[in-house]
Amino acid sequence: MAYSEKARNFYQGELRDIKEGGLFKEERFIQSPQSAEIKVEYPSGAQPMDVINMCANNYLGLSSHPEVIKASHQGLDDRGFGMSSVRFICGTQDIHRTLEDKLTKFLETEDTILFASCMDANAGVFEAVFNDQDVLIADRLVHASIVDGMRLCKALNESYKHSNMEHLEKKLQTYQDARFRCIVTDGVFSMDGDTAKLDEICDLAEKYDALVFVDDSHATGFLGKRGKGTHELKGVLGRIDIITTTLGKALGGASGGCVSGRKEIVEMCRQRARPYLFSNAMPPVVVAASNKVMDLIMGSTERRDKLENNTKFWRKSLLEAGFDIKDGDTPIVPIMLYNAKLSQDMSRDLYQEGIYAIGFFFPVVPKGQARIRTQISAGHDINHLERALEAFIKVGKKYNILGKTKDEIIEMYGL
Ligand SMILES: *Cc1c(COP(=O)(O)O)cnc(C)c1O
Repeated sequence: MAYSEKARNFYQGELRDIKEGGLFKEERFIQSPQSAEIKVEYPSGAQPMDVINMCANNYLGLSSHPEVIKASHQGLDDRGFGMSSVRFICGTQDIHRTLEDKLTKFLETEDTILFASCMDANAGVFEAVFNDQDVLIADRLVHASIVDGMRLCKALNESYKHSNMEHLEKKLQTYQDARFRCIVTDGVFSMDGDTAKLDEICDLAEKYDALVFVDDSHATGFLGKRGKGTHELKGVLGRIDIITTTLGKALGGASGGCVSGRKEIVEMCRQRARPYLFSNAMPPVVVAASNKVMDLIMGSTERRDKLENNTKFWRKSLLEAGFDIKDGDTPIVPIMLYNAKLSQDMSRDLYQEGIYAIGFFFPVVPKGQARIRTQISAGHDINHLERALEAFIKVGKKYNILGKTKDEIIEMYGL
């Protein structure tokens, strides 16, 4: 009974504030494999419902693909459950190295190192490579895990306005005296679904002698004609020095991440990255299944092609129905509502219509930019999307937002 009353009271107060602010996050219990259609218990204790999932990162529909499941069973039988070690002591199997080589080949880089997650990759890479003589210049909307990784590194943490190349250029000019300059960006920005201007970024990097870092978690496996990612889409294969990405989204969605890029940088991570040196190796089941995922996506573009078609259908249908969506070419399609309560109310009504789509509001997105973020998957069939569209239109009509401009929605609901 050492937990002090003072601490308990303090945290009870904090949690109350979070709830009263309408920011308390509740989990919905899924009682089926991850898929286009899932069985969900919500609210907790309610009778489970079959709903169409419109908010998973399961972009290629591989999370429960039969061949991936089979490969993970095989991996379990052949190589056991856990490694009980970090990589450099006795945690490396041949299949870990095979997976690293496949990622290198797919991403068209020089070498790859696996981490337990992309969060870990981002936490480890900057500190392993840069020091107080260097400057990291990051897009202001980079993922939280990049912000944390940069903080762990002694390099100067700088930033440029979101996708603003003039501002980036000014920052590069300012820091010409640093030992190394590294431009840091997401490939695809997860809240808006927009892509970084990697072609222009690489040109600036050449002009001002900078390195380029891209976290491609929301692109690896499907963006670009062969699904390699944002660097393929923007025509800069081979020009990105450091790519980090996750195995926890399109690539089967279990867990794992990596740093892929210049071989010296990858080797520095093997020698110095703390999450690599001090955290357990990826489990063989996940590695074996991920190897299968790489074979599937390198063997055929069928799934990324289907995803592209589904995305075009979904974007076009929403626009025709009169929704206000963010422009872009990615399967992240945000439906803008601006008002936080409206995003929660519509999400709840959609659920009653059999559609699982979550409302996002501050602090996940800026104040006054609440939305429902939909994410399309190759696991969706057109009839899933048609059913989802019907439900969105029904709920959109109820709230009278179809065909309305941003200003009109704000006038009706406020910010
Ligand atoms: C999801 C995501 C991560 C975290 O990946 P994990 O492997 O789940 O840790 C990191 N960066 C970006 C940009 C992401 O979208």
